[in-house]
Amino acid sequence: MAYQISDDCISCGSCESACPCGAISEGDGKYVIDADMCADCGSCAEVCPVGAPQQA
Ligand code: SF4
Ligand code: SF4
Repeated sequence: MAYQISDDCISCGSCESACPCGAISEGDGKYVIDADMCADCGSCAEVCPVGAPQQA
């Protein structure tokens, strides 16, 4: 299991620095999570202002 970032993402960048695994990077129009690197910790969901990261 991994987290995924929905289209609600406003590309604020807060989750990238909050991820302990370096799994988040800026994508085309929104940030994206590399599922192979995600440890399912939930930190990105905690810092996101719009609730875009959700458990897949
Ligand atoms: Fe990174 Fe944790 Fe979010 Fe996975 S759940 S992308 S490890 S902050
Ligand atoms: Fe997008 Fe939320 Fe990450 Fe900001 S914290 S870049 S809105 S997913």
